[in-house]
Amino acid sequence: MVTGGAGFIGSHLVDRLIKDGHQVTVIDDLSNGKMANLESASKRGDLAVVEADVSDYPAIEPHFAEVDWVFHLAAKAAIVPSIQEPMVYHRANVDGTVAVLEAARAHGVKRLVYAASSSCYGLAEEIPTPEDAPIRPMYPYALTKTVGESYVQHWSNVYKLPCVSLRFFNVYGPRASTSGAYGAVFGVFLAQKLAGEPLTVVGDGEQSRDFTFVTDIAAACVDAAESDLVGEIMNVGSGNTYSINYLVSLLGGEVVHLPKRPGEPDSTFADTTKINRLLGWTPKVSLEDGVQIMLDRIELWRNAPVWNESSIAEATRDWFEYLSDSGTDPKTIDQSGAD
Ligand code: UDP
Repeated sequence: MVTGGAGFIGSHLVDRLIKDGHQVTVIDDLSNGKMANLESASKRGDLAVVEADVSDYPAIEPHFAEVDWVFHLAAKAAIVPSIQEPMVYHRANVDGTVAVLEAARAHGVKRLVYAASSSCYGLAEEIPTPEDAPIRPMYPYALTKTVGESYVQHWSNVYKLPCVSLRFFNVYGPRASTSGAYGAVFGVFLAQKLAGEPLTVVGDGEQSRDFTFVTDIAAACVDAAESDLVGEIMNVGSGNTYSINYLVSLLGGEVVHLPKRPGEPDSTFADTTKINRLLGWTPKVSLEDGVQIMLDRIELWRNAPVWNESSIAEATRDWFEYLSDSGTDPKTIDQSGAD
């Protein structure tokens, strides 16, 4: 079972599971996911797709019968809309997670892998960031993914549901969202490059991100499902951190600079010692190879919105309004990922 299986990360995981010969059921409300993302998987293997909202327990529960592994990836994932509509994010990411946990429990699934988010660390002080770093979600998306992770731990502890949470760092790859809200940097830059417009670099571009290729994320999910770990929380990252200026140099093109955004970390960089030790997982795709794969598929962004300085200023207005003081007094949630 892959919730959110028609989405960006979910569909790559489905591809991998189908390739490994598994029977796969996808639950997706197709609000952001697309059936087109599942085209090749449905031709190659045994795939069923259920169109349903994960927070609708009666609709999803029967589909968990005879499921061995659940990968819970369904979520709303944009930052600004989460600030504007926190209840929508709560419903999808928290109620949705509780419904999936309960359906998994009702049918005694063997393992549940939860897609947690590196955004839980907020403005991390320790770089690379280990799992037991302070938890400081800076906006509702990060908060709802963190609360979802707490529910997953709780179901592991109280109901003995065998769960593992993986905190993904800056996932990129083909099928990353090409529509909707202003979002992850890769899609923004690729659409700008295709249109011959300047790449909108935030701040001086020296901030860095742990860009992790989507097939490496899918492999970590499968490794976690195949393991006998219970109640573990592990970072999944590329093993490095790369400045936006370096990304720009790989993509090529003119740039224009935008104001630095409040509440945004200068660096994200996963300490991946734990997942390497417990699962033997290591990333396989370098940023240089990953960027080449993206450039080879750049036509996927042909119809994507082309953001520019003024449309980004408009789209991020609430971000600047609500997060402007948030970096000065970060509140820590006591939710240690220490093993
Ligand atoms: N970024 C950028 N220009 C954009 C969008 C993002 O320079 O138009 C930068 C942003 O400042 C951040 C990085 O790209 O350092 C990744 O941003 P994204 O929103 O993809 O992820 P997050 O900030 O949540 O890690």
